[in-house]
Amino acid sequence: MIKHITILLTAFLMSSCVSQSECPKEELHPSDWVSTLVGTQSEYLLSTGNTYPAVALPWGMNFWTPQTGKMGDGWAYTYNAHTLCGLKQTHQPSPWINDYGQFSLMPVRGDKCFDEESRRSWFSHIAEEARPYYYSVYLADHDIKAEMTPTERAAIMRFTFPKTDQAGVVVDAFDRGSMVECVDGNTIVGYTTRNSGGVPDNFKNWFVVRFDKNFSAVELTSDPATHKAGEKRLYPEGGKKAEGDHAMVKVHFETERGEQIVARVASSFISREQAMQNLKELAADDFETVRENARQRWDEILGRIEVKGGTDDQMRTFYSCLYRSTLFPRKFYEIDSEGNPIHYSPYNGKVEKGYMYTDTGFWDTFRSLFPLLNLVYPSENAKIQAGLANTFRESGFLPEWASPGHRGCMVGNNSASVVADAILKDVTPKEDIETLYEAMMHGRSAVHPDVSSTGRLGHEYYNKLGYVPCNVGINESAARTLEYAYDDWCIAQVARKLGKVKDIAPLEKASRNFKNLFDKEHKLMRGRNEDGTFQSPFSPYKWGDAFTEGNSWHYTWSVFHAPEQLAELMGGREEFAKMLDSVFVVPPIYDASYYGFRIHEIVEMQVADMGNYAHGNQPAQHMIYLYDYCGQPWKAQKWTREVMNRLYSAHPDGYCGDEDNGQTSAWYVFSAMGFYPVCPASDEYAVGAPLFKEVTIHLENGRKVEIRAEKNSPENRYIGRMTVDGKTEDGNFLSHSKMMQGQTISFDMQAEPNLSRGLKGRELK
Ligand code: CA
Repeated sequence: MIKHITILLTAFLMSSCVSQSECPKEELHPSDWVSTLVGTQSEYLLSTGNTYPAVALPWGMNFWTPQTGKMGDGWAYTYNAHTLCGLKQTHQPSPWINDYGQFSLMPVRGDKCFDEESRRSWFSHIAEEARPYYYSVYLADHDIKAEMTPTERAAIMRFTFPKTDQAGVVVDAFDRGSMVECVDGNTIVGYTTRNSGGVPDNFKNWFVVRFDKNFSAVELTSDPATHKAGEKRLYPEGGKKAEGDHAMVKVHFETERGEQIVARVASSFISREQAMQNLKELAADDFETVRENARQRWDEILGRIEVKGGTDDQMRTFYSCLYRSTLFPRKFYEIDSEGNPIHYSPYNGKVEKGYMYTDTGFWDTFRSLFPLLNLVYPSENAKIQAGLANTFRESGFLPEWASPGHRGCMVGNNSASVVADAILKDVTPKEDIETLYEAMMHGRSAVHPDVSSTGRLGHEYYNKLGYVPCNVGINESAARTLEYAYDDWCIAQVARKLGKVKDIAPLEKASRNFKNLFDKEHKLMRGRNEDGTFQSPFSPYKWGDAFTEGNSWHYTWSVFHAPEQLAELMGGREEFAKMLDSVFVVPPIYDASYYGFRIHEIVEMQVADMGNYAHGNQPAQHMIYLYDYCGQPWKAQKWTREVMNRLYSAHPDGYCGDEDNGQTSAWYVFSAMGFYPVCPASDEYAVGAPLFKEVTIHLENGRKVEIRAEKNSPENRYIGRMTVDGKTEDGNFLSHSKMMQGQTISFDMQAEPNLSRGLKGRELK
């Protein structure tokens, strides 16, 4: 580990406090500030994050969650639920995408407790501890305390039982094809094939569960509906197996009051043998050691950004957001017995060499999650990029929404942004750059035969007309056009860097295609027919149709790479600023006729009381920072602070819409630091207003970015003056490459906007 991290960690590790309330603030670890419950008070109709309390290591292959919902319910854990039915291994990125390769363990007391309903127990948040590296809960109906703590591909669970001869642990391999087998007196092996799509036919998640106490009996079934719980006890002579639609096993114990039984669990997408290999991650470590190692790993990752001088609530929100920013995309590779990375390919069904990551939608996460990785965690993104090159090799396409393989979801070809940003910031492994360039170029004029959101749907029209028409049977055509144009700009930057001379001019020309949808009459983006006329009738409040989960007010700003050209189209910077102002001024009226019902993103816009600004979904998340480009940066400062204060918290309802695999969290992390990557694949960050008095980013190269704003306070949200390494900076932008050299950025914060700084904005090139 890098030296400065060690020093930092030592400071954090000096404390041995157990909970936040017992600790003086300065002795807290970064992970002590995290609540994993943020965003869990969500439901189908209204998302306050649509998250679950993932117990995992950063980017770990397996996450674990307490399960309140029924098998198959995307809302696996909801804060308002009263009962739990299992501790589930999960790979779910979002309730809308749902889970795959899941199975659960549930400790019980009572011979009749077996299937999902009969084993349920009441629980309370009073007797629950939810941390990134540890979860514990008291299962009231069973009088059992259950705890779990993870490694990347394994976990250790500890169950504290009452005195009973009816103790047991149910291992539920879920339906749609599964198996459980009692291989010896204390070990269960099984597999689950349950998935929600995006897998080859041979998909299996193999698991092994090894207890530290021999079973007194076991009962197995492949049909829980007809199984009579407690009646069919098979004594464990080995080789007992249940295989079918829905395999489950219950292992029985006799316990004394306070007796602890430990289960060591691991899994593999590759094979039964590899699951055993992955179990070695736990070594011979006991529960406390695994938990301490997991905590240290989180503190190392979270501690890369050190913040001071905020309120406790702001600290909690910041580190809870940073935790969510370092979960996805998850590792989908495993380590073979020789120590090499290998993976089951969710694309071709074979076991392949090298890295693979999954469970992210680039439509969401290209915006600020991947730029955050490139700034703070580039070594992780290097492996992610190697995995993307493997995805192209194994499937012929870069993913757009992967879980674990290609999934049909959202629009755009924003893998180009994710790939380009990493190449331009020198993160990508050299040996993968050519493959990734080829992959980006290929995606410009191809669409996946089975998954139309992979590649570019409508590329024939786009490449011929300069836009995807709205009347040729391709939905959300304007959103596609705007994103393809930005994606082409991203590829153009890489073409320049790599000296792909012939490609540069056509890519740059295509990057201006956003102009083809600009309607001068409304000064907004608008769908366009194949014959060149604009779509009519037109309502800027209409969600969907030519746009994706947003309206024209939201999508008009999707010109990440050329806001100054967009301003020119609108009639100048003043007009541009007025149009930005309007988004907050117009009431949250909407037209949901495209969907036929009010989608949750619309409700989330309405209830936020910010006009038509819709922070709960991604299209507009960079919009506030566009004030920097038209010379009115104080409005960016005002609104970023408003959004941080009003739309984020560390409570279970702490997000204003779907969190979306780190994207909405990374927005907060950047914004709290005082800057934001409006245009990934550029070197530039737009300045907002820092939230804390002090932020220190410990870069992986050993240098530091120090952000100082001593006069920061709830009132002082405006920048009076900014200096970079002691020199006054009157612009509204910071450079990534300069930041990577180490930088000290100081802000004089004040209560009134400074109307005379940052006026230059971005000139038309
Ligand atoms: Ca979203």
